[in-house]
Amino acid sequence: MSDSLFSVEGQVVLVSGGTRGIGRALAEGFCERGATVVVTGREPAVAETAAGEIAAKTKGRCFGLGCDVAQKSQIDKCVAEIVAQQGRIDTLVNVAGVNRRKPAADVTEDDWDFIIDTNLRGAFFMSQAVGKQMVAQKGGSQIQICSLNNYGPLPWVLPYAASKAAVGHMTRVLAMEWGSHGVRVNAIAPGYILTDLSKKLWSNPMMQEWNTANTPLRRLGQPDDMNGAAIFLASKASSFMTGQIVFVDGGFSAGIMWPIDKAT
Ligand code: NDP
Repeated sequence: MSDSLFSVEGQVVLVSGGTRGIGRALAEGFCERGATVVVTGREPAVAETAAGEIAAKTKGRCFGLGCDVAQKSQIDKCVAEIVAQQGRIDTLVNVAGVNRRKPAADVTEDDWDFIIDTNLRGAFFMSQAVGKQMVAQKGGSQIQICSLNNYGPLPWVLPYAASKAAVGHMTRVLAMEWGSHGVRVNAIAPGYILTDLSKKLWSNPMMQEWNTANTPLRRLGQPDDMNGAAIFLASKASSFMTGQIVFVDGGFSAGIMWPIDKAT
Protein backbone atom coordinates (compact mmCIF):
# COMPACT_ATOMS: atom_id res chain seq x y z
CA MET A 1 0.00 0.00 0.00
CA SER A 2 1.38 3.44 -0.84
CA ASP A 3 0.83 6.06 1.84
CA SER A 4 0.14 9.64 0.67
CA LEU A 5 1.49 10.90 4.01
CA PHE A 6 4.99 10.10 2.77
CA SER A 7 4.42 10.99 -0.88
CA VAL A 8 6.83 13.19 -2.81
CA GLU A 9 5.12 12.48 -6.13
CA GLY A 10 4.87 15.55 -8.34
CA GLN A 11 7.36 17.55 -6.26
CA VAL A 12 10.16 19.52 -7.90
CA VAL A 13 13.31 18.56 -5.97
CA LEU A 14 16.71 20.21 -6.32
CA VAL A 15 19.64 18.08 -5.15
CA SER A 16 22.65 20.39 -4.99
CA GLY A 17 25.66 18.07 -5.30
CA GLY A 18 23.76 15.13 -6.78
CA THR A 19 26.25 13.72 -9.25
CA ARG A 20 27.80 11.15 -6.89
CA GLY A 21 27.59 9.60 -3.44
CA ILE A 22 24.85 10.58 -1.03
CA GLY A 23 23.34 13.23 -3.34
CA ARG A 24 23.04 10.79 -6.21
CA ALA A 25 21.35 8.16 -4.04
CA LEU A 26 18.92 10.79 -2.77
CA ALA A 27 18.20 11.95 -6.33
CA GLU A 28 17.42 8.35 -7.32
CA GLY A 29 15.19 7.92 -4.27
CA PHE A 30 13.12 11.01 -5.11
CA CYS A 31 13.00 10.15 -8.81
CA GLU A 32 11.78 6.60 -8.12
CA ARG A 33 8.91 8.09 -6.13
CA GLY A 34 7.62 10.35 -8.87
CA ALA A 35 9.39 13.64 -8.14
CA THR A 36 10.98 15.72 -10.88
CA VAL A 37 14.60 15.99 -9.81
CA VAL A 38 17.33 18.43 -10.80
CA VAL A 39 20.87 17.33 -9.89
CA THR A 40 23.74 19.76 -9.89
CA GLY A 41 27.52 19.54 -9.72
CA ARG A 42 30.45 21.72 -10.67
CA GLU A 43 30.64 20.59 -14.31
CA PRO A 44 27.52 20.85 -16.49
CA ALA A 45 28.48 17.78 -18.57
CA VAL A 46 28.98 15.64 -15.45
CA ALA A 47 25.62 16.75 -14.04
CA GLU A 48 23.85 16.06 -17.33
CA THR A 49 25.40 12.58 -17.60
CA ALA A 50 24.44 11.77 -14.01
CA ALA A 51 20.88 12.99 -14.60
CA GLY A 52 20.57 10.84 -17.73
CA GLU A 53 21.74 7.77 -15.81
CA ILE A 54 19.39 8.48 -12.90
CA ALA A 55 16.42 8.96 -15.24
CA ALA A 56 17.23 5.73 -17.10
CA LYS A 57 17.70 3.71 -13.89
CA THR A 58 14.54 4.97 -12.17
CA LYS A 59 12.41 5.54 -15.29
CA GLY A 60 11.76 8.98 -13.78
CA ARG A 61 12.31 12.64 -14.63
CA CYS A 62 15.78 13.96 -13.85
CA PHE A 63 17.67 16.93 -15.27
CA GLY A 64 21.28 18.01 -14.75
CA LEU A 65 22.66 21.53 -14.41
CA GLY A 66 26.13 22.86 -13.72
CA CYS A 67 26.25 24.90 -10.51
CA ASP A 68 29.43 25.44 -8.51
CA VAL A 69 28.03 26.50 -5.13
CA ALA A 70 31.26 28.36 -4.37
CA GLN A 71 30.14 30.86 -7.03
CA LYS A 72 27.04 32.77 -5.89
CA SER A 73 26.33 33.97 -9.43
CA GLN A 74 26.03 30.32 -10.55
CA ILE A 75 23.59 29.57 -7.74
CA ASP A 76 21.33 32.48 -8.66
CA LYS A 77 21.40 31.49 -12.34
CA CYS A 78 20.69 27.83 -11.58
CA VAL A 79 17.74 28.56 -9.27
CA ALA A 80 16.27 31.05 -11.75
CA GLU A 81 16.57 28.47 -14.54
CA ILE A 82 14.82 25.75 -12.53
CA VAL A 83 11.99 28.10 -11.54
CA ALA A 84 11.62 29.25 -15.18
CA GLN A 85 11.43 25.62 -16.36
CA GLN A 86 9.51 23.93 -13.54
CA GLY A 87 7.58 26.84 -12.00
CA ARG A 88 8.61 26.13 -8.40
CA ILE A 89 10.96 24.21 -6.10
CA ASP A 90 9.26 22.09 -3.42
CA THR A 91 12.33 20.53 -1.82
CA LEU A 92 15.98 21.52 -1.71
CA VAL A 93 18.55 18.98 -0.57
CA ASN A 94 21.80 20.82 0.05
CA VAL A 95 24.35 18.02 -0.33
CA ALA A 96 27.39 19.59 -2.03
CA GLY A 97 30.32 19.15 0.32
CA VAL A 98 34.08 18.65 0.38
CA ASN A 99 36.78 17.84 2.93
CA ARG A 100 40.56 17.83 3.32
CA ARG A 101 41.99 16.01 6.32
CA LYS A 102 45.11 17.47 7.93
CA PRO A 103 46.28 18.88 11.28
CA ALA A 104 44.89 22.32 12.16
CA ALA A 105 48.43 23.72 12.17
CA ASP A 106 48.83 22.78 8.47
CA VAL A 107 45.52 24.20 7.19
CA THR A 108 46.23 26.74 4.45
CA GLU A 109 44.10 29.65 3.29
CA ASP A 110 43.31 27.61 0.20
CA ASP A 111 42.13 24.63 2.31
CA TRP A 112 39.99 26.91 4.47
CA ASP A 113 38.41 28.74 1.52
CA PHE A 114 37.84 25.55 -0.50
CA ILE A 115 35.96 23.84 2.34
CA ILE A 116 34.11 26.83 3.79
CA ASP A 117 33.14 28.25 0.37
CA THR A 118 31.47 24.96 -0.57
CA ASN A 119 30.13 23.54 2.70
CA LEU A 120 28.99 26.75 4.40
CA ARG A 121 28.97 29.76 2.08
CA GLY A 122 27.64 27.63 -0.79
CA ALA A 123 25.01 25.93 1.37
CA PHE A 124 23.86 29.29 2.72
CA PHE A 125 23.54 31.10 -0.60
CA MET A 126 21.80 28.08 -2.13
CA SER A 127 19.36 28.02 0.80
CA GLN A 128 18.85 31.76 0.48
CA ALA A 129 18.16 31.68 -3.27
CA VAL A 130 15.77 28.74 -3.00
CA GLY A 131 14.29 30.13 0.23
CA LYS A 132 13.22 33.36 -1.50
CA GLN A 133 11.35 31.26 -4.06
CA MET A 134 9.81 29.05 -1.35
CA VAL A 135 8.65 32.09 0.64
CA ALA A 136 7.11 33.53 -2.55
CA GLN A 137 5.32 30.24 -3.30
CA LYS A 138 4.31 29.99 0.38
CA GLY A 139 5.87 26.64 1.16
CA GLY A 140 8.73 24.23 0.77
CA SER A 141 11.15 21.99 2.59
CA GLN A 142 14.90 22.38 2.81
CA ILE A 143 17.18 19.56 3.93
CA GLN A 144 20.74 20.44 4.89
CA ILE A 145 23.45 17.80 5.23
CA CYS A 146 25.31 17.95 8.53
CA SER A 147 27.65 15.29 9.95
CA LEU A 148 28.70 13.42 13.07
CA ASN A 149 30.81 16.54 13.70
CA ASN A 150 27.52 18.12 14.84
CA TYR A 151 27.43 15.51 17.63
CA GLY A 152 31.10 15.76 18.52
CA PRO A 153 33.95 17.25 16.48
CA LEU A 154 36.71 15.06 15.09
CA PRO A 155 40.38 16.10 15.07
CA TRP A 156 42.27 16.76 11.80
CA VAL A 157 39.22 18.16 9.99
CA LEU A 158 38.84 21.56 11.63
CA PRO A 159 37.43 23.56 8.68
CA TYR A 160 35.02 20.72 7.84
CA ALA A 161 33.88 20.33 11.47
CA ALA A 162 33.41 24.09 11.78
CA SER A 163 31.45 24.24 8.51
CA LYS A 164 29.06 21.49 9.58
CA ALA A 165 28.56 23.02 13.05
CA ALA A 166 27.66 26.28 11.32
CA VAL A 167 25.26 24.52 8.94
CA GLY A 168 23.54 23.10 12.03
CA HIS A 169 22.93 26.60 13.39
CA MET A 170 21.99 27.84 9.93
CA THR A 171 19.30 25.14 9.87
CA ARG A 172 17.82 26.41 13.13
CA VAL A 173 17.98 30.10 12.25
CA LEU A 174 16.37 29.60 8.84
CA ALA A 175 13.66 27.44 10.44
CA MET A 176 12.81 30.33 12.76
CA GLU A 177 12.90 32.99 10.03
CA TRP A 178 10.86 31.09 7.44
CA GLY A 179 8.45 29.02 9.57
CA SER A 180 5.67 31.59 9.30
CA HIS A 181 5.93 31.34 5.49
CA GLY A 182 5.37 27.58 5.48
CA VAL A 183 9.01 26.85 4.71
CA ARG A 184 10.58 24.10 6.84
CA VAL A 185 14.32 23.68 7.24
CA ASN A 186 15.80 20.51 8.74
CA ALA A 187 19.06 18.61 8.44
CA ILE A 188 20.24 15.04 8.15
CA ALA A 189 23.49 14.16 9.90
CA PRO A 190 24.81 11.03 8.18
CA GLY A 191 27.07 8.67 10.07
CA TYR A 192 30.03 7.07 8.30
CA ILE A 193 28.93 6.48 4.72
CA LEU A 194 30.98 4.75 2.03
CA THR A 195 31.43 7.27 -0.82
CA ASP A 196 34.24 8.80 -2.92
CA LEU A 197 34.74 11.28 -0.07
CA SER A 198 35.43 8.57 2.49
CA LYS A 199 36.50 5.38 0.67
CA LYS A 200 40.25 5.89 1.24
CA LEU A 201 39.64 6.24 5.00
CA TRP A 202 37.47 3.10 5.16
CA SER A 203 39.92 1.01 3.13
CA ASN A 204 42.06 0.98 6.29
CA PRO A 205 41.25 -2.24 8.27
CA MET A 206 41.98 -0.47 11.56
CA MET A 207 39.30 2.11 10.76
CA GLN A 208 36.82 -0.61 9.74
CA GLU A 209 37.37 -2.36 13.06
CA TRP A 210 36.93 0.90 14.97
CA ASN A 211 33.68 1.66 13.14
CA THR A 212 32.22 -1.80 13.72
CA ALA A 213 33.06 -1.58 17.42
CA ASN A 214 31.53 1.88 17.82
CA THR A 215 28.42 1.65 15.64
CA PRO A 216 25.53 -0.20 17.30
CA LEU A 217 24.23 -1.40 13.89
CA ARG A 218 27.74 -2.79 13.20
CA ARG A 219 28.33 -1.56 9.66
CA LEU A 220 29.24 1.40 7.49
CA GLY A 221 26.33 3.31 5.96
CA GLN A 222 25.51 3.22 2.26
CA PRO A 223 24.41 6.40 0.44
CA ASP A 224 20.83 5.15 0.07
CA ASP A 225 20.57 4.69 3.84
CA MET A 226 19.79 8.45 3.84
CA ASN A 227 16.74 8.12 1.58
CA GLY A 228 14.13 7.29 4.21
CA ALA A 229 14.91 10.34 6.32
CA ALA A 230 15.05 12.62 3.27
CA ILE A 231 11.70 11.41 1.90
CA PHE A 232 10.22 11.85 5.38
CA LEU A 233 11.57 15.41 5.72
CA ALA A 234 10.33 16.35 2.23
CA SER A 235 6.84 14.93 2.75
CA LYS A 236 3.71 15.81 4.72
CA ALA A 237 4.74 13.19 7.28
CA SER A 238 7.10 15.77 8.81
CA SER A 239 4.79 18.78 8.40
CA PHE A 240 5.14 19.89 12.07
CA MET A 241 8.91 19.44 12.13
CA THR A 242 11.44 22.19 11.49
CA GLY A 243 14.85 23.26 12.80
CA GLN A 244 15.90 19.68 13.62
CA ILE A 245 19.03 17.67 12.92
CA VAL A 246 18.19 14.00 12.34
CA PHE A 247 21.13 11.66 12.89
CA VAL A 248 21.11 8.71 10.48
CA ASP A 249 24.25 7.03 11.74
CA GLY A 250 23.60 3.41 12.70
CA GLY A 251 23.34 4.60 16.31
CA PHE A 252 26.88 6.01 16.51
CA SER A 253 25.69 9.13 18.35
CA ALA A 254 23.43 7.19 20.76
CA GLY A 255 26.20 7.02 23.34
CA ILE A 256 29.67 5.69 23.94
CA MET A 257 30.34 2.02 23.12
CA TRP A 258 32.53 0.05 25.55
CA PRO A 259 34.92 -2.63 24.29
CA ILE A 260 33.05 -5.28 26.32
CA ASP A 261 29.90 -7.14 25.33
CA LYS A 262 28.39 -7.81 28.75
CA ALA A 263 28.56 -6.32 32.21
CA THR A 264 31.38 -8.05 34.06
P1 NDP B 1 31.08 12.78 -2.61
O1 NDP B 1 32.47 13.30 -2.72
O2 NDP B 1 30.81 11.37 -3.02
O3 NDP B 1 30.09 13.73 -3.46
C1 NDP B 1 30.15 15.11 -3.29
C2 NDP B 1 29.11 15.76 -4.15
O4 NDP B 1 29.18 17.19 -3.96
C3 NDP B 1 29.33 15.50 -5.63
O5 NDP B 1 28.09 15.34 -6.27
C4 NDP B 1 30.03 16.76 -6.10
O6 NDP B 1 29.74 17.02 -7.46
C5 NDP B 1 29.36 17.82 -5.22
N1 NDP B 1 30.16 19.03 -5.05
C6 NDP B 1 31.36 19.17 -4.45
N2 NDP B 1 31.76 20.45 -4.50
C7 NDP B 1 30.78 21.14 -5.14
C8 NDP B 1 30.61 22.50 -5.49
N3 NDP B 1 31.53 23.44 -5.21
N4 NDP B 1 29.47 22.85 -6.13
C9 NDP B 1 28.53 21.91 -6.44
N5 NDP B 1 28.64 20.62 -6.12
C10 NDP B 1 29.76 20.23 -5.49
O7 NDP B 1 30.65 13.07 -1.11
P2 NDP B 1 29.55 12.39 -0.15
O8 NDP B 1 28.43 11.88 -0.94
O9 NDP B 1 30.26 11.50 0.78
O10 NDP B 1 29.11 13.66 0.70
C11 NDP B 1 27.96 14.39 0.41
C12 NDP B 1 27.64 15.27 1.61
O11 NDP B 1 27.44 14.47 2.75
C13 NDP B 1 28.73 16.28 1.96
O12 NDP B 1 28.14 17.48 2.38
C14 NDP B 1 29.44 15.61 3.11
O13 NDP B 1 30.04 16.54 3.96
C15 NDP B 1 28.27 14.92 3.79
N6 NDP B 1 28.64 13.82 4.66
C16 NDP B 1 29.26 12.69 4.15
C17 NDP B 1 29.59 11.66 5.00
C18 NDP B 1 30.27 10.43 4.53
O14 NDP B 1 30.63 9.60 5.38
N7 NDP B 1 30.47 10.23 3.23
C19 NDP B 1 29.30 11.73 6.43
C20 NDP B 1 28.64 12.94 6.83
C21 NDP B 1 28.33 13.93 5.97
P3 NDP B 1 30.87 17.30 -8.58
O15 NDP B 1 32.12 16.60 -8.17
O16 NDP B 1 30.24 16.74 -9.83
O17 NDP B 1 31.01 18.79 -8.60
